[in-house]
Parts: sequence; structure tokens; C-alpha cells
Amino acid sequence: MDDEALEGYLKAGRVAATILKDAEKIVKEGIRLLNICETFEKRILEAGCKPAFPCNICINEVAAHYTPGPSDEDAVVPSNALVKVDIGVHVNGFIADTARTIVLDEGLKSLASAAEDALRKALKVVGPGIPVGKVGLAVEKAVKERGFKPIWNLVGHQIARYSLHMGTSIPNVGSSDGGRFEVNGVYAIEPFVTFQEAAGEVSSLGEARIYRCVRYRKGRGSEGREALLSKIWENYRTLPFAERWLQGLLEAPRERLWSLWNEIKASGFVKGYPILVERTRRPVAQAEHTVLVTQEGCLILTEL
Ligand code: MN
Ligand code: MN
Repeated sequence: MDDEALEGYLKAGRVAATILKDAEKIVKEGIRLLNICETFEKRILEAGCKPAFPCNICINEVAAHYTPGPSDEDAVVPSNALVKVDIGVHVNGFIADTARTIVLDEGLKSLASAAEDALRKALKVVGPGIPVGKVGLAVEKAVKERGFKPIWNLVGHQIARYSLHMGTSIPNVGSSDGGRFEVNGVYAIEPFVTFQEAAGEVSSLGEARIYRCVRYRKGRGSEGREALLSKIWENYRTLPFAERWLQGLLEAPRERLWSLWNEIKASGFVKGYPILVERTRRPVAQAEHTVLVTQEGCLILTEL
């Protein structure tokens, strides 16, 4: 790994860790989800970095890929909620991805600690040449020891420049297939945990608030569509972005903007990340760190 990449990953990790540390102070009952996300995203920019993806704020049974959209700007943190905050920071495309669960109900604290504990134990296993399935096994074992269940169909992932999910997936249950960790590889490890009686799997709600550009070629559509699409490409490249962010990209009336956006969605240039919920609607906790695999083991980038 060259110096630019290493410095980028170290800075992105440090900033992400510093910002996420304040999650407890920011996430409170009755606060608008949009305010929370914008607070985190603003702090990332103030630190001289960029969000690698929209701040995800997933409540209770919602496991992943939720951020407020233009249609639900007024949603707030409900009482007794379990709130997962997942942030991404990048420096010139070098990404750090980290998440924590904030619990506003005493009865859910053990679920959140099980996710933290599973992550801790998983990180101890990571090292060069280690099969990724060993991490899955460590997660599964730690979660079951505490009387909970891992979500089998949500996984950690390898990270590359401007690419949040690429290459190897890191399972959250024991598995004999999948690759091995490689020296200088960057990986996000992220156990998701639910109750024993739950299905232990997520299903898609179909709708999405977060998208990414999957292909881009100049000059293929109407002038308006082209203008919006080229702004998306300039600003986010292949990284995920929020629908709500589009409002700041183009000086156009709201109605016009959303009609151009609908054209883009229909064109196949972008792909959505559908909101994922636990199939039996039980609460899900998450903990996540990004690591750099070294000769000796791994360096946790998103820990101070
Ligand atoms: Mn994440
Ligand atoms: Mn991740």
C-alpha cells in the first residue's frame, strides 16, 4: 500500500471514530432522524473529509440501508428505541466504515453488547491468510453464547478505493467457503445480532433512499437528465448517495428535479440499496469497524 492510501485510510478512520464517539449525545428520543444524519455528515465535512455514504440511521427491526428521504423528513427517534448509526468517511476515495448501536431501552442493552462483543472477538481472528469463515464462526459463537442469533444474510465486506463493497464478503456465521484475508487488504467487519426467536435474516422492503451510480457515459440523455447525472458522477463517483442530497446538486425547482431523478432511476444508470428489515420484525443491533490487514494481524482504523 502506498503512502497516499495509508494516510487516507488512517485519516478517514480517525475522523469516523472521533465523530461516532458522540453518537450517544446526538441520538435522543424525539430528535428528527434527518437532523441526526445531517449533524454527522456536517462533522465529516468540517473535518476536511467527505461522507463515503449517507449516514444510515436504522431503528429497531430496520437493519440496514435506511436514511431519511425527501418523503420522510419529519421522522423522529421513537421512545425505547434501538438506534444503529452507521457512518462512512472518505479521503480521496479511501474509505472508513463504522457503526454503533445506541439503546434507549434498558431491556435492549444486552443485545447491543452482544454485537460489540462479537465484533471484538471477530477482530482478534483477523490476520493475513486467515479464512474469512473463521471470523463468521467467531461471531456466531460469541452471539450464541449470549443467547442471541446472528443475521446470516448480512455480511462485512472488503473495501477498495471509491468502492465500498468489493471482493471478499465477511460472513457473520461459520462458513467453509469464501476467501482469505490478504495483507494490505481493507475490510469492514460488522456483526448484526437479533433475538433467538427471530428468523435471523433480513428481507428487502423494496423501496430505497440510497443509490449509487453503476455506469456513466456522457451525453446519452436529455440535457436536464445529463446535467443531474454528471453532477452525481462528479460528486459521488461510484459511492452511495442519498436521494435527499440531490436537492443541493442542481438549481432547479423541486418538481423538475424529482422528474429528472425519476428518469435517471428508470435509465439503469443508478442502482438502489433497498431498505433491509429483520424478516420477523425483531430488533437488530450492529457493531462495525474497518480494519487494515497487516503482517502481524490487523490495525483497527476506526478506533481511537
Ligand atoms: Mn457501515
Ligand atoms: Mn459496512
